[in-house]
Amino acid sequence: MDIVVLPLPPEKMKTKTADQSRLGFGKHFTDRMLLVEWKAGQGWCDARIKPYEPFVLDPACTVFHYAQEIFEGLKAYKWADGRIALFRPEMNARRFNQSAERICMPEVPEELFLKGIEQLVSLERNWIPTAPGTSLYIRPTMIAVEPVLGVHPSNHYYFYVILSPVGAYYAAGFNPVSILVEDQYVRAAPGGTGEAKTGGNYASSLKAGLEAKKKGYDQVLWLDGRERRFIEEVGAMNMFFAYGDTIVTAPLNGSILSGVTRDSVLKLAPTLGYRVEERQIDVNELFNDIRAGKVTEAFGSGTAAVITPVDKLCYKDACLQLTEGKVGRITQKLYDTLTGVQTGKLKDEFGWIRFVE
Ligand SMILES: *Cc1c(COP(=O)(O)O)cnc(C)c1O
Repeated sequence: MDIVVLPLPPEKMKTKTADQSRLGFGKHFTDRMLLVEWKAGQGWCDARIKPYEPFVLDPACTVFHYAQEIFEGLKAYKWADGRIALFRPEMNARRFNQSAERICMPEVPEELFLKGIEQLVSLERNWIPTAPGTSLYIRPTMIAVEPVLGVHPSNHYYFYVILSPVGAYYAAGFNPVSILVEDQYVRAAPGGTGEAKTGGNYASSLKAGLEAKKKGYDQVLWLDGRERRFIEEVGAMNMFFAYGDTIVTAPLNGSILSGVTRDSVLKLAPTLGYRVEERQIDVNELFNDIRAGKVTEAFGSGTAAVITPVDKLCYKDACLQLTEGKVGRITQKLYDTLTGVQTGKLKDEFGWIRFVE
C-alpha cells in the first residue's frame, strides 16, 4: 500500500525545544503523524502522513466507551554517523498484532507497520534529539472509531503513529527506585488481557500506583491474580532479580506483557557471562532470599527507561534494601550494553538494529 504524504503548511510546524536536557517523556510531539484506516468490507485504506493535529471523533465511538484500544512503544536513535536506527521494530509489529487479536481488532500487515514508521521517522528526522540518553519515542496506536453504543467489535479503526522526542525517562537520572509489592489490587488474571498492550490495563492500574506514590514508593510490583503470591511485573516494566551471576525473571504465563527489552536482556546476559532463568518467583521466598543476602540486585526492563535499577522493595510490613542507593554491577553492565547497541557504540551481534533510509 502506498502512503500519501500530505503537505505540511507552515502554521502546522512547531518549534523544537532547544534544551534537550529538559525534554521529559512524551510531552512534545513532532510536526507529522501517520494515519491509516480500516473499514469492514474494505480492509486497510487511506494511508497518509499528515500534519499532527487533533482528531474529530463522534462521542459515541467504541474506543471511548469500551476501551477498544491497543498501542506500542519503541525508539529511534540518531547515531554519531548520522544514521537512524530502530531497535527490533519487528518485535513491536508482531506484538501489536497479538494485542489486536486479543482485543478483536484487525491485524496491521507487518510491512505496513514497519514501512509506515520508517517513512514517518525519515520525514521527521530533524526531530530526533542527539544528547546522551535522548531518543525519538514512537507510539503506534489503534483505536475503534465506529459511532455505535452496542457492545461489539467496531467496524471502523484508526491505526496511527505519533512521535515524541524524549529525554531520559527518570528526571533524576539513572538512580535506583523504590517499589511496593501490591497485595490488594491485581493488574491481570489468567484469561484476562495482561498479555495485550491495551489501555484498559493501564486504567485499572492507576489507583494502586497513586496509593503507592502517596506512601512514597515510585512504582508498584504486581503479583499473580490467582494466588497473589508470584511476582509478575511492574506495569510498564518486566522485573529481574540477580542471584549472584544468575538473573531470574518470571516466565511469560499469559498475564505478563512480553517485553522486547526483557527478551533482549535474556539474550544479551549470557554473552556477558551471566546465567538466565525464567521461573516462578514466590514473593515470600524472594524476601527470604533478600534477607539471606542471596539476591544482590533487582531491576526493571522496558523501552521507555531501558533498565531501571531497583534498590528498595516493600511487601506488607517488610521493607528491604538491596544496593544501598547505588546501581548494581550487573544492572549497570546490562544498561551500558543495551544502550550501547541501540546508539551504535557497541557491535550489534544479534542483528537487532534496522536502519531508516
Ligand atoms: C510495554 C510494557 C512493558 C515493557 O515492554 P518493552 O517491549 O520492553 O518496552 C512491560 N510491561 C507492560 C505492562 C508494558 O505495557
